[in-house]
Amino acid sequence: VAHEAFDDGRELRARAGSKNARTVVSVRDLAMRYGKAEPVIEGVSLEVREGEVVSLVGPSGSGKSTILRAISGLHAPLSGNVELGIPATEMGFLFQDDALLPWRTARDNVALGLRLRGKAVGAAREEAADWMARLGLKGLELRYPRQLSGGQRKRVALAQVLALKPRLLLMDEPFASLDAIVRHRVTQDLLDWVEREGIAVLLVTHDLEEAQALSDVVNLLSRGPRARISHRYPVEIPRPRDLIGVRGHPTFAPLLQRIW
Ligand code: ADP
Ligand code: MG
Repeated sequence: VAHEAFDDGRELRARAGSKNARTVVSVRDLAMRYGKAEPVIEGVSLEVREGEVVSLVGPSGSGKSTILRAISGLHAPLSGNVELGIPATEMGFLFQDDALLPWRTARDNVALGLRLRGKAVGAAREEAADWMARLGLKGLELRYPRQLSGGQRKRVALAQVLALKPRLLLMDEPFASLDAIVRHRVTQDLLDWVEREGIAVLLVTHDLEEAQALSDVVNLLSRGPRARISHRYPVEIPRPRDLIGVRGHPTFAPLLQRIW
């Protein structure tokens, strides 16, 4: 992601898609439902390119997690399709509810994916401990998931996903349970890493300010059933790093009241 400098030293993360960035995932005209119920979402299209953070913002129950389930292949579409520009194995998914193995320590949960990719135990554990330290989990390596707080478990789950260096990262409300300081550190790390590695991130959140602070493109999902993307806009407001967590663009509050 390129940077554009402002006179006063602020920088604007170049928005969406330097022209030749590769499309990592493309969702077209997607409709999803559970059983025979009314479709949860309908006519949803979006794409994420390399080096881009795209967010999906919507009220609770609008179908955000459902869209991620379609992308990850967990749930088949009623109609429409999902096209991946990368092998499915390079996709990382941070679920809304963490999926840690209760009988493994935090460190071994993080190391698990690395082991599955052929890393030796010692090296995998060392790398896992490094990721844990970066996410503020130093000293908790040998705890079991039940011995951790919700926020700590979320960070372990995040470390687990990041350790695999996915090229497409699907994140479902990843920062909701983090305290402000850890959240700041984790989001900084994430942005640095997106820029450095050119990974693509699809961020699901109900927090519009967070979405605007972190993403290149914001998609607003209307209320379900049959939720659609009602607005899509590039984030063009300057986002110096220290703006993260500060009130978002004021003009969107009335807009949200209208559509939600
Ligand atoms: P969000 O993530 O935006 O809060 P979800 O995608 O979880 O919304 O849910 C969208 C709608 O689909 C909700 O009305 C929810 O009740 C329904 N839903 C989600 N999962 C299931 C399921 N497994 N079975 C039936 N209905 C579901
Ligand atoms: Mg959800």
